[in-house]
Amino acid sequence: MTTAAPSSADLTVAFQQALRRELHVAGTAAGPRALMRAAANACRELLGQRWADTQAADASRGLKAEVRRVHYLSMEFLMGRALGNALAALKLDDALRAAFSAEGQALPDVLERENDAALGNGGLGRLAACFLDSFAELKLPSFGYGLRYQYGMFAQGVQGGRQVEAPDDWMALGNPWEVMRPELRYPVGFGGRVEVEASGARRWVPAEALVAQAYDFIVPAHHSERVSTLRQWHAQAEAPIDFAAFCRGDHQAAAAHRVAADALNWVLYPDDSTESGRVLRLKQEAFLVSASLQDLIARHLREFGSLEQLGRANAIHLNDTHPALAPAELMRLLLDEHGLSWDQAWTITRQAVSYTNHTLMPEALETWPVRLFEALLPRHLEIVYEINHRFLAQVKRQFPDDADLLRRVSLIDEGGQHGHFGGGERRVRMAALSIVASHRVNGVAALHSDLMVKTIFADYARLFPDRFHNVTNGVTPRRWLQQANPGLSTLLDGRIGTGWRHDLEELAKLKPLAADVRLGEQLLAVKRENKQRLADRIRRDLGMTVAVDSLFDVQIKRIHEYKRQLLNVLHVVARYQAIVADPRADWVPRTVVIAGKAASAYAMAKAIIQLTHDVGRVINSDPRVGDRLKLVFLPNYGVSLAETIIPAADLSEQISTAGTEASGTGNMKFALNGALTIGTWDGANIEMAQAFGEDNMFTFGLRTEQVDALKRVGYEPRHFVEQNAQLHAVMEAIARGDFSQGDSGRYRALVDRLLNQDVYLLMADFADYVKAQERVDALFRDRTAWAERVALNIAGMGMFSSDRTIQEYIDRVWSVKSLG
Ligand SMILES: *Cc1c(COP(=O)(O)O)cnc(C)c1O
Repeated sequence: MTTAAPSSADLTVAFQQALRRELHVAGTAAGPRALMRAAANACRELLGQRWADTQAADASRGLKAEVRRVHYLSMEFLMGRALGNALAALKLDDALRAAFSAEGQALPDVLERENDAALGNGGLGRLAACFLDSFAELKLPSFGYGLRYQYGMFAQGVQGGRQVEAPDDWMALGNPWEVMRPELRYPVGFGGRVEVEASGARRWVPAEALVAQAYDFIVPAHHSERVSTLRQWHAQAEAPIDFAAFCRGDHQAAAAHRVAADALNWVLYPDDSTESGRVLRLKQEAFLVSASLQDLIARHLREFGSLEQLGRANAIHLNDTHPALAPAELMRLLLDEHGLSWDQAWTITRQAVSYTNHTLMPEALETWPVRLFEALLPRHLEIVYEINHRFLAQVKRQFPDDADLLRRVSLIDEGGQHGHFGGGERRVRMAALSIVASHRVNGVAALHSDLMVKTIFADYARLFPDRFHNVTNGVTPRRWLQQANPGLSTLLDGRIGTGWRHDLEELAKLKPLAADVRLGEQLLAVKRENKQRLADRIRRDLGMTVAVDSLFDVQIKRIHEYKRQLLNVLHVVARYQAIVADPRADWVPRTVVIAGKAASAYAMAKAIIQLTHDVGRVINSDPRVGDRLKLVFLPNYGVSLAETIIPAADLSEQISTAGTEASGTGNMKFALNGALTIGTWDGANIEMAQAFGEDNMFTFGLRTEQVDALKRVGYEPRHFVEQNAQLHAVMEAIARGDFSQGDSGRYRALVDRLLNQDVYLLMADFADYVKAQERVDALFRDRTAWAERVALNIAGMGMFSSDRTIQEYIDRVWSVKSLG
C-alpha cells in the first residue's frame, strides 16, 4: 500500500518543476520567496501521496482497532511555519539546501520568507499544533479540525511604546500548503425555528444557510511515512449574489449575505465587547462543530454503513469549551437527521466525547446568554434543555435534599447575583455541558487537575468521580529542539545518539555526563551562538545593541496580569535603581527580553506593554547603566519568534501567581533548550522541578495554599510596600513619572491597582523574587556550575514530550478500553 520514500532525486525533480512554474509566473530570476513557494509545492505533492496512503490504511482498520479515530476539535492551531518541518520530516533538507544554493540563496533565508500560520492566541493553540505532530509520530488515526482564519488573531506593532493591532494578512500571497477538498462541503444553518412533524419528530428549519468548505493542511511524521491532517473550514454563502439587487444597481445589497458569511473567516476571537462580536464568535464555534461532525459521520457511514458503532470507532475531543456545542450538534444530527432514539444517540455521544479544561479562572469559563443561543441555535437549545432535564433528575435521585446542588451543577445559570454578568440573564454553561456529555475530563498539569476537582468542578467530581483525570502537557521535540536549536541537537546527537528525537526520555542519558566540564563548555558555546543570532535579530528589528555575554533573561508569552510580566518589570526597575546607586559594584550584566500580545480589549495588559517600553527607553539610554542592564520588547510574538528567542535564553521567567497557570508549555521549551527557570510553584513548573531536581530551578514565592491563606486573612498589598524600601522606591518612581517624562498620571491606575487590590499578589512575592534573582546572578558567575545545571535540566525533560502526552490520551481517553 505505501509508496517508497521519496528520494532526494524525486524531490529535486519536483522542486525544479515547481520552480519553473513559479518563475514562469514571476517572470524574473528566482528570489527567496519564489524558492520557498516552489519548495513548499514540491513537498506538498509528496505529502499528498503520504496522505492518501495514511487514509487508506486507517479506513481499512475496521472495528477491531483498539484505538478510535480521534477528532481533535479546536478553535486554535498555532502552527507557525511549515517548510523547515516538512523538509526535516521528509529528510530532504540537504537536497534543498543544495538546490537553493545553486540559485544563490541560503536555506535559512528561504525559510524566513514563509509567513507564520498564526491561527491561535497562545498556549492552547500551540498545544494543538504540537499534538498534530505527535499524532503523526504515534501513527494515530486522526483529524485536527479548525477554522481557516484569514487574518489570524492580529499582527502586533508598537508605536510610541504602545501596542497597535492590524490584520495579520498571512495568506495575502496565497498559502502553498493547503489542499482544497472540493468534494467536502457541508451546509451549516443558523437561526430560524423548530418544526414538529406529524410523526413527532423535530426538525430545525434554519433562517440562514452557509456552506463549510474543507481545506487540508498535512503534517508529516518524522520517523515514519504517516501524516496527520488539520482540516480547516472556510465559510461561504450558499446563494450567489442577489441578482435582482445587482440589476437594480445596489451592489452592496447584492453581496451583503456574502460579506456576512465571509466574516466568519476573518479573525480568531472577534472582540467580544460588542453584541455583534459575540454573535460572530458563537457562529464560528457552531460552524466548526457542525462541519466537523458532518464530516465525521459521512466518513463513518462510508466505512461502517451504519451509526451504532460510531462512539466505539470515533473519539471527539474538545480542546477547552470552545467546541462544546459538539455534543448538542451530534445529538441533533443523530436524532433529527439520522432518526436514532434519544438513548441510542446519548450513548454514542457520551462514548465519543471527551474534554480538556485549560483554566481555573471562573471569569474565563465560557457561558452564552440563552437569548442569543436560542436566536442562533434554537434546536440545540432544546437539546441542551433535555440533556439538563435528564441530568438534573439523576442528580436529584442521588442527592434528594440538596436543592442548591441542582442550581450549582445545572447546565443553565439561572442568573441572579451568582452570575458573573449580573443583570439576571440566563446563560448556558459550556463547561457543564462538556462535563456532562463526556466520558473523560482532564486538566493539563498535576496541580491544575487537582485544583480543578477541588474548586471549579468540585460538584461534578462528586457526581462523577471516575470521569476526571490529569494529562500533563508536552511539546514536540521536533520543532522545539531539532528545528529551533540545530546546534544543541548536533551536540546531543554526538553525546547520547539521535534517539531523543523519537523518544525524548533518552535525554536522561545526559545526566551521568552533566559534570563533564567539556560538555559544559560545549553547551555554553552553542548557547552563545544562539544568543548572537538573537542579538543580531534585536539589532535588525529594533536598532539596539545588546551584549552577547550578558545573561539573557527572557519572558515571552501572552501579556496577562496573572502571568506577571509586571513583576518582571518591577524587578528591572529595582535593579536599575541599584545600579545607578552603585555603578561600580560587580554587576552580572543582564539583557531582559519580553515579548507577547495583549488582547485588544484588555487595557491593563496594554498598559504593561507601554510601561515596558517606557522603562526600557529610560534604562537603555542611561549612560550610567551601559551593558549592565537592557530591557528589550520584541513585537509580534509568535511561533517563529519563539523559535529564535528560546534557544538563546539563559533564564526562563515562569512567574505566574501560584494556582493560576494551568500548565504552561513555554516553560518546557526553555528548559529543553538549556535555559534555567526562575519560577513559582505553579502549573507544570512543579513537575519539571520534580523531574530534574528542585535544586536545579530557582523557585520562589507563595505556594497555592499560602496564596489562599493570605487572601483569607485579608491581603493588604500596601503593607508589603511599606515594609520594603526597595519595593517602595520602585513604586514611587513609576508613580512619580520617572519613566513617563514626568507624567504622573500615565500609570496612576496601574499603581493604584497594585497598592489596593493586587489580585495576583505581586507585592507579596516581590521580595522573594528579588532574592531568587540574586541566586541567579551568583550561579551565573560560576560558568561551570551553571553549565552543569543546564545539562541536568535538559536531562530531566524527557517526560515533557507531547508524544508522552498523546500516549496518555490514547491509553486513558481514546482507546476502546477507556470506554470501560
Ligand atoms: C509555547 C507557546 C505559547 C505558550 O507559552 P506559555 O509560556 O506556556 O504561556 C504561547 N505562544 C507561542 C507562540 C508559543 O510557542
